[in-house]
Amino acid sequence: MTCVYIGLGSNLAHPVEQLRSALTAMEAIARTRVDTCSAFYSSAPIGPGEQPDYVNAVARLETDLDAIALLDALQAIENQHGRERSIRWGARTLDLDILLFGSDIIETPRLSVPHPRMTERNFVLQPLAELVPDLTLPDGRSLQKLLQQCPPNRLHKL
Ligand code: ATP
Ligand code: CA
Ligand code: CA
Repeated sequence: MTCVYIGLGSNLAHPVEQLRSALTAMEAIARTRVDTCSAFYSSAPIGPGEQPDYVNAVARLETDLDAIALLDALQAIENQHGRERSIRWGARTLDLDILLFGSDIIETPRLSVPHPRMTERNFVLQPLAELVPDLTLPDGRSLQKLLQQCPPNRLHKL
């Protein structure tokens, strides 16, 4: 089993419900179980234009799938939740990012792990630190140090 961290985000169509439903859907992924999930957080949008606030969380999964098979399953769940891909970083019903896949470092056209932008996002680092305060990334960087260096962005626990 590989221990995986998933970043969940939504800012459309009842975000809290989207995240709850996504957790249930992830439970149903083959050879995978949801171990735990952080609190839900409200965060200011970082994308282009006017957008509603986001609800974010981080979940820990255990899986026997490989990373691409897991990405396929997560993208299927995004699609089932009405995800549309028009504007980059635009508003969305559901976003499921693979933050960490064990201690693997993956660079393929479809997948970069650890998620390359997670280190600048307090709405990822804060819920992740709730689950694993003493985490060290595969490249040796400490989560606590990254949190201290992270640009401030409006964030509060729901
Ligand atoms: P960001 O990646 O900055 O958080 P985003 O989540 O809005 O932006 P998406 O439109 O959801 O980006 O995804 C675009 C593509 O990113 C996906 O089709 C997927 O192939 C690729 N991708 C690369 N690395 C990852 C990863 N670690 N987790 C999920 N998708 C990834
Ligand atoms: Ca994302
Ligand atoms: Ca994504």
